[in-house]
Amino acid sequence: MSASTKHDLNSHLWDTSALYRDSVIQLDEAARVMNLDQNIAERLKVPKRAMIVSVPIRLDNGSIKVFEGYRVQHNMTLGPGKGGIRFHPEVNLSEVAGLAMLMSFKCSLAGLPLGGAKGGIRVDPNQLSRQEHQSLMRRYTTEINMIIGPDKDIPAPDIGTDSQHMAWMMDTFSQENGYTIPGVVTGKPVEIGGSLGRAESTGRGVIYTVQHAAKHLHKVGKAGPKIDASTTVAVHGFGKVGAVAALEIYNLGCKVLAVSDWKGAILNKNGLNIPKVIEWVVKNGTVVGYAEAEEISNADLLALNVDVLIPAAIDGVITEENVSTVKAKIIAEGANGPATAGALNQLEERGAFIIPDVLCNAGGVIVSYFEWVQGLQNFFWNEAEVNEKLAEVMDNAFKRVMDQQMKYKCGMKTAALITGVDRLNKAMLLRGLFP
Ligand code: NAD
Repeated sequence: MSASTKHDLNSHLWDTSALYRDSVIQLDEAARVMNLDQNIAERLKVPKRAMIVSVPIRLDNGSIKVFEGYRVQHNMTLGPGKGGIRFHPEVNLSEVAGLAMLMSFKCSLAGLPLGGAKGGIRVDPNQLSRQEHQSLMRRYTTEINMIIGPDKDIPAPDIGTDSQHMAWMMDTFSQENGYTIPGVVTGKPVEIGGSLGRAESTGRGVIYTVQHAAKHLHKVGKAGPKIDASTTVAVHGFGKVGAVAALEIYNLGCKVLAVSDWKGAILNKNGLNIPKVIEWVVKNGTVVGYAEAEEISNADLLALNVDVLIPAAIDGVITEENVSTVKAKIIAEGANGPATAGALNQLEERGAFIIPDVLCNAGGVIVSYFEWVQGLQNFFWNEAEVNEKLAEVMDNAFKRVMDQQMKYKCGMKTAALITGVDRLNKAMLLRGLFP
C-alpha cells in the first residue's frame, strides 16, 4: 500500500458506527480474497462527498425544532448517486456513510449505471404528525438541493419514509427549479411518474433470491427447503420490505410462522394468514394484538427453528452475542447489514446459507433504476414487464455472485462484495485518478 493513500480509520470521523466499521471489515476481506489493487481498496473505504445539514421546522404546537440531516455520496464512478433517505432516531453520519458504501457495491453488482449514496435525518418518525413529516422532507430537500438531481444523485424511500415523502421531495425540487423534474427521486407514487411494481420490488426480489438459494442448495446436494407448503419462514420487520417478502413467500405456499415490528412479534405455529396480518397492520399500525397468534419477543423470533429467516428491519440485529440462537437454514438479508461480519462467519461455519444484503434486497434499486429510465423516456411499462425485467436482472446478479463464490471458495458476503467491487474497480481504473 502506498503511504499517500493509507487512511487511519480509527481516528477518522466516518468510523463511529458499527455498520460502517463492519462494511470496511467486509470490504477488506473481499479485497484480500480478490487481490484488489490497494489504492482502489483505500479509495472505496471512504465516501466521495458528504453533507451535514440543519433542518429547522415549525412543529404543530408552534415551536421550532432543528433536526440534523445527512446526504453521503460514496462513489459515483458508474453514474449518478442512488440511495434511500432514512428517518430514524439513531441515524448518524457514519451509519449513512456505511449504507452509501453498500449502495455502491449493490448498484455495481446488479450491473446498473448508478453510484452509491444514502441520506438520513436523525428523528423518530413515530413522534411527528404527517404535516411535520412534510415540513421536514421539504426543508431537507432545500438544504441538500445543490447535490441532488436526476443526473447527480437520486434519493428513494428507506426506513421511516415512503412514496409520499418522495412526492414532497420531487415537488420541492421542481418548485425550486421552475419545472417538473420527476427523475430527481424514485419510489414516487405511480400518478406522478412512479413505476408500477416499485413498492413491491425489494420484497419480491428478496423472495426471488430465496428461491434461487433453495435451488442452489439442491443442485449442490445440500439439504435445504423446497419453497413449498413444507417450508417454514420467519420475517423480522414488517415494513415496506418485510411485509411484501412475507406476502410473496406466503403466496408461494410456504408457512410464515412469525413476523415482527419494533413493538413486538407474533407467532402462529400453523402459519399466519399474511393478507389478514397486513389488513390488521394497516388499521392498527403494528402486528402486535393480531388475534390468531401468540405474542413473542423479537429475540424469540430470530431464534425460531425455521427454514428461512428474513431479517428485514434494521442493521445489527444478529450479532456475535445472539448468533448462537439462530437456527434457520437460509438467512435472507432483506435489511441492510442485519447481521454483523462476525455473526455471518459463525452462521456460515455452521452451514447456514447467507443471501447477502447487497444481493438480497437489490430488487428495490433495480426497479428504482427502471423508474428513472421510464421517467427519462416518458414511456411507462406495465407491471408484468417490470417484474419480468426485475427477475432477469436478479437472476443474473445471483448467478454472478455464485460464480465468484465458486471461483474463490469464499463466504457469500465476500462473494457478493467481490462481484460489486470487481466492476467498480475496472471502471475506476479506466477513468483514472483526476488530476
Ligand atoms: P420500513 O420503515 O418500511 O419498515 C421497517 C420495519 O422494521 C417496521 O415494521 C419497523 O417497525 C421494524 N423495525 C424497526 N426497528 C426494529 C427493531 N429494532 N426490531 C424489530 N423491528 C424493527 O423500512 P423498509 O423500507 O422496509 O426498510 C427495512 C430495511 O430494508 C432497511 O435496512 C432498509 O435500508 C432496507 N432496504 C429497503 C429498501 C426499500 O426499498 N424500502 C430497499 C433495500 C433495502
